[in-house]
Amino acid sequence: MKKTVYLLVGWLMAGIACAQTTPPKRPLPIIDVHVHAMKVNPGFAIEMCPWFLRDMPGGDPNQQMRAFLNTECVDPLQPAKSDAEMEAAVLETMKRLNMTIIAYGDPQILRRWKKAAPDRVIPGIGVSSPNDMSVQAFTDSLSSGFYKVMGEVAPQYQGLSPSDMSLDAYFAAAEKLNIPVGIHMGTGGNGMANISQSKYRASLGRPFLLEDMLARHPKLKIWVMHAGYPMIDEMIALMGANAYVYVDLAGFIWSYPQAEIHMYLKRLVQAGFGKRIMYGTDFMIWPKLFETSISIIENADYLSFDQKRDILFNNAVRFFRLDPEKYK
Ligand SMILES: [Zn+2]
Repeated sequence: MKKTVYLLVGWLMAGIACAQTTPPKRPLPIIDVHVHAMKVNPGFAIEMCPWFLRDMPGGDPNQQMRAFLNTECVDPLQPAKSDAEMEAAVLETMKRLNMTIIAYGDPQILRRWKKAAPDRVIPGIGVSSPNDMSVQAFTDSLSSGFYKVMGEVAPQYQGLSPSDMSLDAYFAAAEKLNIPVGIHMGTGGNGMANISQSKYRASLGRPFLLEDMLARHPKLKIWVMHAGYPMIDEMIALMGANAYVYVDLAGFIWSYPQAEIHMYLKRLVQAGFGKRIMYGTDFMIWPKLFETSISIIENADYLSFDQKRDILFNNAVRFFRLDPEKYK
């Protein structure tokens, strides 16, 4: 009996010694290419049930519209209630998940996040219409060195095609400075055109609308945000014709029904584009959204371990020309 106790104590001590000498293993790195750095608006800090677009209700323009986000689930995601809470949650999640983010949005918030986690935040700046800022101001911002990415560019919400000539000089600046560009294409939720964004047009999310702009800027590297959902055939044709176009999975992976998401993702991989799909969330205000979105990739039983690693990390390293050694 005594001998057993000694053995047990010895084993425990060895365990403790081992825990003291071996640093805890970091999880495999993840890059989220689609994060919005937003100021928290307490009036808009609402709960959200992932995959809420499984139900597109048949409303009536003469009746009050139903809330955009569905909160009828057991465990809705909770919004951050203040900028400080948001920052703390984003920093903690990045550290715990060994995650780096490509982030754009409010410049003050972005600078704060970057200062707190310089190695984990890659800042981007977006222009969606010429009214946002002048070409000169945009070029100066890119030249400052702080911004490494142009995004999110969302002309679709302005009723503009990405090939509209009013945006051309901005893309030319990004091309010249070797800055990758993320362009919103496709998904907009339920009733985007008649409930929330009157200029939004579904037809302006067609991936083929990128072709003229790409032809004018052969050195420009773009990724199609939201993978052009639900325009899978055009997306595949565009990527086939344009060898440097990548996609991200942001937004639709936590809002549309899961069977639909997996069908779309599987089709992209099946068509041979597994090396050009990047993980992204479209993170806004719910800190647990990162884990929710990662679970979609982790649970995709039609993807191999290597294919998941490509989507979660390797493809973004290649696309953004990052140094993989820095993430080990
Ligand atoms: Zn978007």
